[in-house]
Amino acid sequence: MTRDLIAGIERQLDALAAQSLTRRRRTADSPAAPRQTVDGRELLAFCSNDYLGLASHPRVVAALREGADLYGAGSGASHLVSGHSRAHALLEESLAAFEAPHLVDARALYFCTGYMANLAVLTALGSDPDATIFSEALNHASLIDGARLARAGVSVYPHGDVAALEAKLAASTATTKIVVTDSVFSMDGDLAPLPALLALCERHGAWLVVDDAHGFGVLGANGRGALEHFNLRSPNLVYVGTLGKAAGVGGAFIAAHASVIELMIQRARPYIYTTAAPPALAHALLASLDIIAGGEGARRRAHLNALVAQLGEQLHLRRWQRLPSHTAIQPIVIGGNEEALQVAAHLHAQGLWVPAIRPPTVAPGTSRLRVTLCAAHTEQEVAQLATALNALEHQLERNAA
Ligand SMILES: *Cc1c(COP(=O)(O)O)cnc(C)c1O
Repeated sequence: MTRDLIAGIERQLDALAAQSLTRRRRTADSPAAPRQTVDGRELLAFCSNDYLGLASHPRVVAALREGADLYGAGSGASHLVSGHSRAHALLEESLAAFEAPHLVDARALYFCTGYMANLAVLTALGSDPDATIFSEALNHASLIDGARLARAGVSVYPHGDVAALEAKLAASTATTKIVVTDSVFSMDGDLAPLPALLALCERHGAWLVVDDAHGFGVLGANGRGALEHFNLRSPNLVYVGTLGKAAGVGGAFIAAHASVIELMIQRARPYIYTTAAPPALAHALLASLDIIAGGEGARRRAHLNALVAQLGEQLHLRRWQRLPSHTAIQPIVIGGNEEALQVAAHLHAQGLWVPAIRPPTVAPGTSRLRVTLCAAHTEQEVAQLATALNALEHQLERNAA
């Protein structure tokens, strides 16, 4: 009997392998930085979301150590029992103040992960079966799962299609309307039309939940993210920022009107029924936030933007398509799963680590390299990547001919 159970699993794994969809992990023996030791080899990595290079920043690492000295290793309990530390409280105050220009009566709540923050916000706002969640087609998996877990109905609108969303909102009789979107789409690098979405939400009395996982720390003159980039301010906004990407540590936060945050504390199960993250992480994040908001953060963002422009100028692709992204996420669509893997393997052989992204993360037939640039990269390193990609496309084209 047990053998039948295992045979069933093995059939599923074989089916993945037959479609070149098996995923493998590489084991890193060094910090997340452009030069990494991976499975015993030094690689130049273009795959981390550590956009500002803060994951191994000496000040952030020192703050993590100091946080462990002050608060110990673990929090010991959930936030509502006894796990809520002074470090968590200070971080929430700082995050609320940071996003305050874009919200009304802002308050912030720290979560263990962005995945959990997204489950929390959609299940808490969408707890009523008569509510509807209007979800953008290319939303992150955690938003899709949050919408599934909520009691509310779910209506998916096409990517970037404000008119389609408007028609859906106008036709809706839902008691509560919740529009939810990534700000920067994680596999395409493009931006959601947030000003138009917010205008629609205000007109239809809907919440606009913005998942700014790839914008927080990176977008906006002060790194406040997508709301600063588009200069938005509204009581309808519910902002989710994650803290394991540009902030370099881990966790996430929701910032919104104080009443929304109070509802999360009272009702959001992914907030209530889990052990609070180690306080040392919150202590380290105070240092990250200080860097993001200060002159060093501005300098790092300027360098990152220059690298994004440089890659666009130096790539000369004919068959593969670099998507028109102006963010640190620079996808190059190859097409088939096998070819995308092959290109990634060729790059790896040259010491370049660029991940191949395949379905179900992206649509079938659009497998791609997902290049991510970061402020810790140098111009020379980006030039090396562009040269390698240009040559590789040429070489594979010739081999195919
Ligand atoms: C990474 C990511 C998340 C999840 O955040 P974690 O803190 O890694 O759990 C949510 N939304 C988007 C768009 C992301 O890219």
